[in-house]
Amino acid sequence: MMNVNVNVNVKAVIVGASIAGCCTALRLAKQGIKVAIIEKQPSSDHYKKMCSHIIHPSGRKVLADLGVWDDLTALGAQATYMDVESQGGRLFYPFSKKPKAANIERRLLDSALRKRVGEHPNITINYGLRIKSLLREKRQVIGLTAEDSTGDIFTFYCSLVVAADGRASRVARLDECENHTVKNHRVALFSYFKGVSRRVPSNVWVLDKGRAYIACFPNSDKMLLSCYIPEHQFKEIKDNQLFYDSFVKDFVERKGIQLGDQVDDLFIAKDTSTLYRSPNSKGLVFVGDAFLAADPLTGIGCSWAMSSAMLLSQCVGRPLLNHGEETRAQSRWFRFKLNSTISIYNMLHRIKYLIPAYLMAWLSLKGGVVFNKRLFGLFAALLGKRSPRR
Ligand SMILES: Cc1cc2nc3c(=O)[nH]c(=O)nc-3n(C[C@H](O)[C@H](O)[C@H](O)COP(=O)(O)OP(=O)(O)OC[C@H]3O[C@@H](n4cnc5c(N)ncnc54)[C@H](O)[C@@H]3O)c2cc1C
Repeated sequence: MMNVNVNVNVKAVIVGASIAGCCTALRLAKQGIKVAIIEKQPSSDHYKKMCSHIIHPSGRKVLADLGVWDDLTALGAQATYMDVESQGGRLFYPFSKKPKAANIERRLLDSALRKRVGEHPNITINYGLRIKSLLREKRQVIGLTAEDSTGDIFTFYCSLVVAADGRASRVARLDECENHTVKNHRVALFSYFKGVSRRVPSNVWVLDKGRAYIACFPNSDKMLLSCYIPEHQFKEIKDNQLFYDSFVKDFVERKGIQLGDQVDDLFIAKDTSTLYRSPNSKGLVFVGDAFLAADPLTGIGCSWAMSSAMLLSQCVGRPLLNHGEETRAQSRWFRFKLNSTISIYNMLHRIKYLIPAYLMAWLSLKGGVVFNKRLFGLFAALLGKRSPRR
């Protein structure tokens, strides 16, 4: 085995080159900070398949700020709003019915972000490298080692390690973090269909008092059709494709939405619980799903991965930028400042994302109350009156 000591002059190493990792890298790099990314997948065209593709208005704004929204629109992303229908009433999101959300295939989104990352002079991206260990001085993380497919080991020293390696974070395991979960006992099934006419609204139908959901998310030439059903119902299904065709596809077609041929596999996501963890070590920070994986029913994960990356870079950007060649005492002072800003980030993250995520997870288990005809109807009517129509 060959040991390669990589002595790149970077201040932060980011683990994972998906949404959270790329957005963090782009934002730090824009502030003049040199960063390296390690990504376990061997090439830039990999993308996350286990994801439907609604992006909330907050996420779309980040994409516009990063300068990728126009590219994505040209590739087939579509502006949209959500039309949510339940037995209790009908609600639009955003309430104004303005198409401020977006439908973007992850195939396009992930590669557009990586392209931007690859072009930035302050970012080095290393594909095919999987994190192996965290390097520590006492409780302070001072870098990491990563391994490629041939077993070669690469060593990175840096001031900050950013874990952006998703729900099953290996960094979290290396840091022996405790996972906190809120189970939803729901299973998601989804696939893509071709040849649908261009539609702006995305539809969500709430069935059986919030125990099941069917949704359609159109982009410029495809339609993503998803459904969420209770775990116990899924266990009784003998043929998943047959169930999907006869229950989900048929339901949507009866609603007057024409679907073309199914052009992708039928994806099934069994573990969709809300998951949260926080780092034990100093000099280590989490972002995106590695920090907080929200219930995918909310369709908020990508947007939160983007906006939490913005929050992180705002918090740690300045101390990282000002850190240079220093004496030992100055270095201790720098670490203190950096760790303080990480604590601020962790606190703001809890307020902005963790509390809403737990609230949504709890509400999603109380479908009978939320979608109660009177309550939901009243809520929808009030919001309908308050929001200006186009
Ligand atoms: C069924 C389902 C439907 C969803 N639908 C939506 C939706 O409609 N809208 C929405 O906003 N969100 C949705 N989500 C959530 C969304 O997919 C995630 O929130 C989002 O992908 C999080 O991005 P991330 O960058 O934090 O992590 P990820 O996208 O999971 O990326 C992690 C990256 O880290 C890399 N990595 C992992 N381990 C290592 C390692 N050891 N070393 C180096 N690299 C590593 C991976 O290869 C990957 O590139 C859905 C999720 C599910 C499960």
